[in-house]
Amino acid sequence: MMPDAPTALPRLAPPGVVLNTDVLIIGAGQAGLSAAYHLQQLGLHAQEQFVVLDAAAAPGGAWQHRWPGLTLSTVNRLHDLPFARTLGRGETTAQARVAVPRYFAAYEETFALPVIRPVRVRRVSDRGPRLHIETDRGNYAARGLINATGTWEAPFIPEVPGAGRFSGEQLHTRDYRAATDFAGRHVLIVGGGISALQLLDEVSQVTTTWVTRRPPLFHAGAFDEAAGRAAVALVEDRVRRGLPPQSVVSVTGLPVTPATEAMRARGVLTPQPMFSEITPHGVRWPGGGALRADVILWCTGFRSALDHLAPLNLRGPAGGVHMTGRLATQVARDPRVHLVGYGPSASTIGANRAGRAAATELLAVLNRSTA
Ligand code: FAD
Repeated sequence: MMPDAPTALPRLAPPGVVLNTDVLIIGAGQAGLSAAYHLQQLGLHAQEQFVVLDAAAAPGGAWQHRWPGLTLSTVNRLHDLPFARTLGRGETTAQARVAVPRYFAAYEETFALPVIRPVRVRRVSDRGPRLHIETDRGNYAARGLINATGTWEAPFIPEVPGAGRFSGEQLHTRDYRAATDFAGRHVLIVGGGISALQLLDEVSQVTTTWVTRRPPLFHAGAFDEAAGRAAVALVEDRVRRGLPPQSVVSVTGLPVTPATEAMRARGVLTPQPMFSEITPHGVRWPGGGALRADVILWCTGFRSALDHLAPLNLRGPAGGVHMTGRLATQVARDPRVHLVGYGPSASTIGANRAGRAAATELLAVLNRSTA
């Protein structure tokens, strides 16, 4: 592959200039850093041949925004970045939002990864042999793209009639800080995933009602690797058929842990079904039952943050992006584009593996092209 001509550091595009690069990675979370590490291992020169643009002002991906009560021992399970077995050694009570960003920062520095921040990618479009990437700090042209923008920036809240009339406070997982913010108020927690459960654990210290669309499915016993692989395979099958990915948790169910057992003992693991209407002072169920609430905390998940890719028209008729490649990171419609941390790779271990697969497969495509 002919590399783009080296240019002086940093690779921030000056106004009116389009910087050329071979591969552009968007996002410096677990997925983007894994892809960057593997591109470098495969011989691409940092800065000259690939760059990582990250919208955040500091390292850490979405982890820097997690709520203060989430620690390295209460996270679901975190995997180290590729070839860096250091995260959280001996610091289980450390806040995830402090420990993980510190670890990412050291990783970027150790491997001299070319992360440029804060740079927000606004729009990616197809200009023939190259993809055109518009950002809030200049424009780039790349032969290949690895998108690693995660989900944190795309919170999902279902539409429920009456939501606009609610006189109390509504917030999403990403806005949550601490249970003490709700002292003296009745909080309705909506959602059946791991975040809902973790926040229920904290918020149930004040008065709460838990609401889930479907009865939560707890899996007893260890959730072993084989079960994890089977769950991921189900999500992978969806994206290979062009369907929108489901969250992996919706497939795996919720783990039974000492924390959930303690919650059961406290009597807080008894969810109500989903309500059908929001009233000015609470919610109402289809049968007519009603509940007063001061706060609705929507723990209803996230979608993939892909709006900036809209001009590429990657979504197919089934509503999702039709994915292919060894780990389903490659966009079938445009093999120069990989999505990592998407669908089956939306976990720290999945992001690691996806970064490697995307780097390898993208370089193979670029090596075959003459652009
Ligand atoms: P992120 O960490 O979100 O990084 C994306 C980066 O892209 C960010 O830095 C962002 O600023 C940047 N970005 C976004 N849009 C743009 C743009 N347009 N231009 C430039 N940059 C952009 N997984 C686990 O394995 N274990 C867990 O315990 C776990 N707990 C979780 C808890 C919560 C509450 C949530 C929401 C998820 C959790 N996950 C967990 C999933 C986990 O967050 C992901 O698998 C992984 O950390 C995400 O990495 P990522 O690189 O895909 O995205």
